[in-house]
Amino acid sequence: MAGESLIPATPKKVSTMQQIATATLPLSQAASTATPSATSAISMEQEINPWEAQAYRFDLAARKLNLDQGIWKVLRYPTREIIVHIPVSMDDGSIEVFTGYRVQHSIARGPGKGGIRYSPDVTLDEVRALASWMTWKCAVVNIPFGGAKGGVICDPKKMSQGELERMTRRYTAELIEFIGPEKDVPAPDMGTDEQTMAWIMDTYSMHMRQTVTSVVTGKPVNIGGSRGRREATGRGISVVCDEALKHLNMPVEGCRVIIQGFGNVGSNAAKLLAEKGYTIIGIAEYDGALFHPDGLDIPNLLSHRGRAGSINGFTQAGAQSVDKHELLSRECEILIPAATENVITSRNAASLNCRILCEGANGPTTVIADDILEEKGVFIIPDILANAGGVTTSYFEWVQDRMGYFWTELEVNQRLDRIMADSFLDVIAYSTSHEVNNRIAAYMLAIDRVAYTTKQRGIYA
Ligand code: NAD
Repeated sequence: MAGESLIPATPKKVSTMQQIATATLPLSQAASTATPSATSAISMEQEINPWEAQAYRFDLAARKLNLDQGIWKVLRYPTREIIVHIPVSMDDGSIEVFTGYRVQHSIARGPGKGGIRYSPDVTLDEVRALASWMTWKCAVVNIPFGGAKGGVICDPKKMSQGELERMTRRYTAELIEFIGPEKDVPAPDMGTDEQTMAWIMDTYSMHMRQTVTSVVTGKPVNIGGSRGRREATGRGISVVCDEALKHLNMPVEGCRVIIQGFGNVGSNAAKLLAEKGYTIIGIAEYDGALFHPDGLDIPNLLSHRGRAGSINGFTQAGAQSVDKHELLSRECEILIPAATENVITSRNAASLNCRILCEGANGPTTVIADDILEEKGVFIIPDILANAGGVTTSYFEWVQDRMGYFWTELEVNQRLDRIMADSFLDVIAYSTSHEVNNRIAAYMLAIDRVAYTTKQRGIYA
């Protein structure tokens, strides 16, 4: 599908997001009419609504592409939104009802693909935004999937394994006709893991009367998971950081990195970057932060966190405990938010002190913060590119499950490295030829690919 485009690659005038927004007519009511700027009086609630942020960026990129108005409307909204109320027998004998969602944004380029999030803060708008980001992410790395996402409003930390298993199985059963290897393939996200995927695979397989491993990805390796999947998002981040340094003519030696979030994405990024010679000077977690000007000992920190369940209490000569918010503003070459959405906003963007912002998390930077960072000259590697290593290896897992033949970790990693490096260069080429920032370039590239396929398939009935 590479190279297929609805538009010619003609250079256009340089535009910041703000200039693009004001220079073109708003199509949508919500995001476009606001044309927020760093100084406007937009409320924090509006600023951090992930669906509005997604829609705003989509509209900007669609305008730059001169996207056909009909296709614009098709791609702006999700194809399907499912809400389920899930009754669960709790350990104390009571019955609790949890609300869950599955949003399928687009299946134009292949089955829906996207994680399932368990969190007390899940909202339909958040799941909608995450589903559409999955569409754009899969298109940026050019894998044959659409975009979907799921979520259940619950606090997994307060639930027993038995309660989580029953909730997961009932959620799966409620969605049984909407998911499947050729329909929609879930994966883990915040609050879910390999075990959750094993329960979903088993429940789906029981209903189908046969083992169907390719219904989910991110499974344990012994039941159809892919080698390298666990580290894949962090690995992809390390590859795009390498590419960004090459692009900006900066050396790896002496490259200082600060990472927010030490979960799957953040800890694997830290480990792989440290192995490549980057200096990880700071790690922020929800309950504390660590700083070492000469570099934290990441393997030891991982062992400590494994034992203690927290980065707090870690001892290394020269390492200091610091404020988790203030750490993000310290001087570094690369800042990697790898925790959650909306951590870089109008409130703290001006204080950042990094050359490169590599978005490990989905949606960590708000639209207003984007403008501020652009003025500061920060080079952004946007989420739909930077953290696409996870879904790329999920694609490998789906392929391997369907073949029934499994690759070595080296094969997985080599294929992942090539896709991530090529995708970085694709985004940079788009950014250069259309004279837009990296984020809008990534959206334009993705929208262009999805729009091309949507037009080619045509609108049914
Ligand atoms: P995770 O639950 O394994 O880790 C998140 C970590 O961030 C946890 O250690 C948590 O304590 C910490 N955290 C949460 N809020 C924080 C805050 N405000 N400040 C500092 N630390 C905080 O989740 P993950 O899988 O690593 O996902 C992290 C982000 O990356 C999410 O936005 C997710 O959607 C995105 N993402 C994950 C993958 C993947 O393969 N896991 C792929 C693409 C994108």
